[in-house]
Amino acid sequence: MKTANQDIRPITTKINEKGNIEIGGCDLTELAAKYGTPLYVFDEETIKSMTSSYKDAFKQYPNISMMFAAKAFMTKAICRIMAREGFGLDLCSAGEIYTAKSSGFDMKKTLFNGNNKSYEDLVYALECGMETISVDNFYELEELNRAAKSKNKTIKILLRITPGIECHTHEYIQTGHLDSKFGFDLTQTDEAIQLIKSTYKNINLAGLHAHIGSQIFEKQVYYDEVEVLFKEIKRIKDRHNIELTEINLGGGLGIKYTEKDKPISVYDIADTITKAIEVYSKEYNVSLNKIYIEPGRSIIGTAGITIYKAGSSKQVPKGRKYVAADGGMSDNARPSLYQAEYTVEIANKPKAENTEKVTIAGKHCESGDILAKDIMLPKIEPNDIICLHTTGAYGYSMSSNYNRVLKPAAVLVNNGKSDIIINRQTFEQLCESDNIPDRLN
Ligand SMILES: *Cc1c(COP(=O)(O)O)cnc(C)c1O
Repeated sequence: MKTANQDIRPITTKINEKGNIEIGGCDLTELAAKYGTPLYVFDEETIKSMTSSYKDAFKQYPNISMMFAAKAFMTKAICRIMAREGFGLDLCSAGEIYTAKSSGFDMKKTLFNGNNKSYEDLVYALECGMETISVDNFYELEELNRAAKSKNKTIKILLRITPGIECHTHEYIQTGHLDSKFGFDLTQTDEAIQLIKSTYKNINLAGLHAHIGSQIFEKQVYYDEVEVLFKEIKRIKDRHNIELTEINLGGGLGIKYTEKDKPISVYDIADTITKAIEVYSKEYNVSLNKIYIEPGRSIIGTAGITIYKAGSSKQVPKGRKYVAADGGMSDNARPSLYQAEYTVEIANKPKAENTEKVTIAGKHCESGDILAKDIMLPKIEPNDIICLHTTGAYGYSMSSNYNRVLKPAAVLVNNGKSDIIINRQTFEQLCESDNIPDRLN
């Protein structure tokens, strides 16, 4: 069965009677007029379709915990949606913990990840009521034990391991290969477990965690990942007489940015994981109480788009034609960070014929500030509304104030209604943290 991550557009996308693109029953040109541009638009139905697909696809596993990887896109409203959908949150900084907590999220359903959690971060996580920490390295084991001891608590952990699995995705978003900054190498887990047994009395090791990368299109890597985890759990049982009962398989399912991308469905991933668990729990004689998965991009990526207003353009003699949008790398770092590609449409003339090869540039002072390179589009005029699809994941969350450009607003659309979930930043907020020392007065 097909799932929403296999489409470029949000599931409610239509061309309305005015000939404009409409998402969640809202005309994009009207949203641009009402809220200004650039604007992130999130389609609630698409988010819901993805969370429902995950729940449905894994329904034979009552012990599965779905954790939304909040770093993909996090605001208080998104935390509320995840709570409503029965998802937990995978958090990776004190700021994300703060956001979840202040949205009223049940902190028992969150997990703390990351490769350099400080003592202060760990104390804060405990104070906020988090009950599961994925420990990445020896330094964190020591700091977490100290933090838990100071709170008179025993804290449940998973050990993040590096499974040694290479997936075919951009080098910057591979995480499970052996030369990775994340997790314990499998040659280091014995030492970690010995330390936990002998010294770290405030730590309770419950299982293993791995995350092999992001924007993954292959099933086999998940199958292999399950084997690596089960094999290691069996080895730990034989060697240390400890029975681990939880595994976390991470996230990574890919989405469709352009026609070239062929992501697999949530059902494909679920079948692969289910099959692998069946096979390897027999082979290694391991039974589990809990399996976590942590999808980020695939939950929110397709649901979000960005709309911009077209401004200046430049025809390089005998070269490219550039059209500039009123945003760029400050609201979407992905093209300049890892040559990400997008599908672009003109929201006020989606049916016009593609007659020009253009490059959509941002407005920032960097030549690398390009949103989409060499794509075929209808002729773009100033004030046309440029729509970049699939910007929902790692767009706003990687945004910056480069060039002191204000961060855009975000709206959630559903059934003809639009609601602000992030207010557009103001000039006052931009300068809020600035301070002029007395001696400069
Ligand atoms: C980023 C991350 C995820 C989510 O990855 P996606 O590709 O967005 O699904 C899950 N788990 C961990 C540990 C991560 O770092």
